[in-house]
Amino acid sequence: MGKITENVKRLLYEVPEGIEVVAAVKARTADEILEAVEAGISKIGENYVQEALAVYESIGKKAQWHFIGHLQSNKVVQVVPIFDMIETVDSAKLARKIDKYSELNNKIMSILIEVNSGREPQKNGVMPEDVELIIREISPLPHVKIMGLMTMGPFTGDPEDARSYFVETRKIFNHIKDMNIPDVTMKYLSMGMSNSYKVAIEEGANIIRVGTKLFGERACKYE
Ligand SMILES: *Cc1c(COP(=O)(O)O)cnc(C)c1O
Repeated sequence: MGKITENVKRLLYEVPEGIEVVAAVKARTADEILEAVEAGISKIGENYVQEALAVYESIGKKAQWHFIGHLQSNKVVQVVPIFDMIETVDSAKLARKIDKYSELNNKIMSILIEVNSGREPQKNGVMPEDVELIIREISPLPHVKIMGLMTMGPFTGDPEDARSYFVETRKIFNHIKDMNIPDVTMKYLSMGMSNSYKVAIEEGANIIRVGTKLFGERACKYE
């Protein structure tokens, strides 16, 4: 059994039922990704449009595609046709563009709102206090469907440091869910990476995005 196959099987066995594993595949080759898919990965997370287009050639619809990077407005046209979910929507302007291209592609795009739970000025995502407002602004768009929230949280290396940010994001998630906003289905809470997914699951994540733990260390240009 290949290393990636072994890692995938171990993680899928370990993670409780109802929690979806998105394989974060930036910097991986098509062969590596294919191995993960054949071992049981059903969702691929890509940060970069160019990479996604190249890998899509060989993987196609063998898995679902989640966009997990910062989405530039001029890339929406390429992202909409191949992705099943965009996890990183952080402005109404971006959502309107996704809506427009989704209509042209005859689809309704599932999206998550990215929360800047650490309130880090240099990071993407919506500030916690603005999440409700942006959801109310985006939810009427007919070709996007808000399905939940995503957060990264500040990275320190110690997963315990991430806990309070995951807790805050879960509170926002529950608060919005309780509002029953029309056309919003608060189903997914995407939090946690290789070093923090256990803490994230404890704090309510039902999507985890895992790269290194499945594929090994990445080349440093991606850090
Ligand atoms: C790279 C990446 C991950 C996975 O990181 P690992 O530490 O390799 O597990 C998760 N989420 C996003 C948005 C990423 O860019």
